[in-house]
Order: sequence, then structure tokens, then C-alpha cells
Amino acid sequence: MFWPVEKKNVSLPTDKTPGGFLEDRGDRIHCGIDIHTPIGSKVFAIEKGVVVNSSLFTSPAIISYWFDTYQLIIKACSGLYYRYAELGPPIVQIGQQINAGDLIGHVRQVLNPRMISNKSPEYIQQLVATGKNSMLHLEIYDTEPIQSSLYKGGNWFDKTPPDGLIDPYTILKQIVSQNTKEI
Ligand SMILES: [Zn+2]
Repeated sequence: MFWPVEKKNVSLPTDKTPGGFLEDRGDRIHCGIDIHTPIGSKVFAIEKGVVVNSSLFTSPAIISYWFDTYQLIIKACSGLYYRYAELGPPIVQIGQQINAGDLIGHVRQVLNPRMISNKSPEYIQQLVATGKNSMLHLEIYDTEPIQSSLYKGGNWFDKTPPDGLIDPYTILKQIVSQNTKEI
């Protein structure tokens, strides 16, 4: 398995910190983990698999403080599904076979500071105040992610997480401990 972003020495959010798995955001919970990294950072496939979804993820047409970003869902040979999101325009296509460590996209700025006000969600205001406008949003599932109106831009608008969602933190920690080689 490969580390998914260009720089390895990033601090991973835990479930107790902003951007962590299942972070309680008031009316929504966070479905993944945010790896804050500069705009344009390369994103690599954690595991070998096939691209099963490549589509628009966030857009100002959905929420005004979002820029357009894209998502990829890769069904890995292990059976896990990886959602890599808040990326620039797709560089891989649906149906394409991907090896672990392949370049699959680049991080794009997701938050538009100019559209954020004191009426925006608290966690969004805090992200922008600390300059965290770009990140890899990573979700991992052990079954195919369901399509639901409760899901929007990496958040789930309910208290009970969607079926199959698992904690990416344990997998990322495993990669760090197994692979000390810089990509
Ligand atoms: Zn996120």
C-alpha cells in the first residue's frame, strides 16, 4: 500500500481533531479524513484497483463557498472502495486499471474564502481562518458506497454513518509504519 499524497510528513487528523473521521459538524458528520496539503499536490492510489466513479464532487452550484472539485472512487483488489476527493479535473477514467502508487490526481482548492461569512458552518470558518483551503478528502468503505441525498461533499447529514464506511486512520497509520520509503 502507498501513502496517498506527495508529502509524507503531514499530521493526520484523528477522530478528536478537525477533519477527522466522523467529526461531529453539528447537522452533519464527516465521512472521511482530511489530509491538508497544498493546492496541486499529487495524489497516489493507496491500493491497486479499478476506477468505478469519476465525477464532480463539490461545486458553487451546490454550496456557494465551494469551488468545483472532483472525486474518484477506486474499487481495490482487496475489496475496499477508496473515495479520493477534492481533486482537480480527472486524469484517469472510469474502467481504468490503477496500480498502487500510480498518480491519480491533484489536490484542488475546495473552499472559497470570499464566499465564507459568519453565517457559514463553524468548522468551515475555522478552516479558512487557518488557511486550510485545500486537502485530500479520503473515505474508505468495505462495501460499495451508496448514493444518497444524505451525502454531500464528504459529509453525511445524519447521526448514523452510511453503511460500509470504515476509519481511514487505521489504514493510513499502517502505511506509515510499513513503508518508510519516500514516494
Ligand atoms: Zn473532508
